Amino acid sequence: MEIPQIKAFNDKMDSLIEPLLPELEAIYKDIHQNPELSMEEFRTAKIAADYLTRYQFEVSTGVGVTGVVGILQNGDGPVVMLRADMDALPVTEDTGLPYASTKIARDEEGTEVGVSHVCGHDLHVTWLMGAARLFSENRDLWRGTLMAVFQPGEEVGRGAQSMIDDGMMERFPKPDIILGQHVMVGEAGTVKYRSGTILSAGNSLKVRLFGRGSHGSLPHTSIDPVVMAAATTMRLQTIISREVAPIENAVLTVGALQAGTKENIIPEEATLKLNIRTFNDSVKDHILSAVKRICCAECAASNAPRDPEFTELVSYPMTVNDAEATARVVEAFKIQFGDRAFETKPASASEDFSIFGRNWQVPYVFWFVGGTDPQTYLAAKEADRINSIPSNHSPKFAPVIHPTLKTGLQAMMTAAAAWFH
Ligand SMILES: [Zn+2]
Ligand SMILES: [Zn+2]
Repeated sequence: MEIPQIKAFNDKMDSLIEPLLPELEAIYKDIHQNPELSMEEFRTAKIAADYLTRYQFEVSTGVGVTGVVGILQNGDGPVVMLRADMDALPVTEDTGLPYASTKIARDEEGTEVGVSHVCGHDLHVTWLMGAARLFSENRDLWRGTLMAVFQPGEEVGRGAQSMIDDGMMERFPKPDIILGQHVMVGEAGTVKYRSGTILSAGNSLKVRLFGRGSHGSLPHTSIDPVVMAAATTMRLQTIISREVAPIENAVLTVGALQAGTKENIIPEEATLKLNIRTFNDSVKDHILSAVKRICCAECAASNAPRDPEFTELVSYPMTVNDAEATARVVEAFKIQFGDRAFETKPASASEDFSIFGRNWQVPYVFWFVGGTDPQTYLAAKEADRINSIPSNHSPKFAPVIHPTLKTGLQAMMTAAAAWFH
């Protein structure tokens, strides 16, 4: 649509969003209280699929395990794909909200874990359901094909790829543009965008270090993997500080370090799990090879009986917004939000959203929607303690429903409208 049409479309939608909010709030709270772990989003997928069917979408379910694709053809015009991820996290919610999740499930290793939507994917699902309904009920206002995609398993980096592997590109029309959004810490009611790289690449590795177990009183008869793991962990921290150029950005976190069972037993081995975030492929390649070099060298320094073993846990590509497409979205955001839409720096978070655009070779745009209570956010900003606001994945992550629900819905519809005829 051209600018004046987008404006007219937004005005009309604003009057329709308000009466829809109570229904969407109920959907949101229901999904929030019934979170499902990655690749097990059966109930959430059914809610989304039933809703799309009610609003005349042609619906396919079970795409890449639990994925849902809804197609709404509405005359000649571009194919616009809107994506929402559906999975929750193995975190016990500690928000104190009246609608907090109390759900417990078994994870892939069979361990009982609390489950909650502390990354806000319940909002993503609700936004896309609302947008689907409003586009369907107002087909006189736009021309084109709307493709609503509910994706499984974002948190484990497998969902988008599992949909692609399940024939998504052969079974559904090729989009002209792919759009997605994420709730983040930020003033509710605002939207943050960025052309080019907006999210880092994320790589996670498991490293097993092998020693030789013995009695705690006889260290000379052992090769101690605890000391090996400690030295390795410290040395790994020199990669970012000593090997990556100061103007580059990267993160290396050893998030898990496991060895041993008892104080007087030197164990056989130790395991490290580490997470790397980068904004540039050559930096990523350098860090990955430095990790291997340091782990091998520390094992050699300890006289380890064998080389360490490396297993890739998760790999997310960078999310790099297409410049031209972003400019178009931003133009539409400015009409809708004015200075409540503004540019952000890249975030050291990662997503598998770009897998769709990378495979189809079409432009994609991803942006953030603020979810923090405005008063809380502004007070924290004033006191220079924004970092103390519970972020995504914190057990206390609690986006406010209003105006976040409305803002995300407006953002999604405005961005899509910028493409439709
Ligand atoms: Zn997350
Ligand atoms: Zn997320």
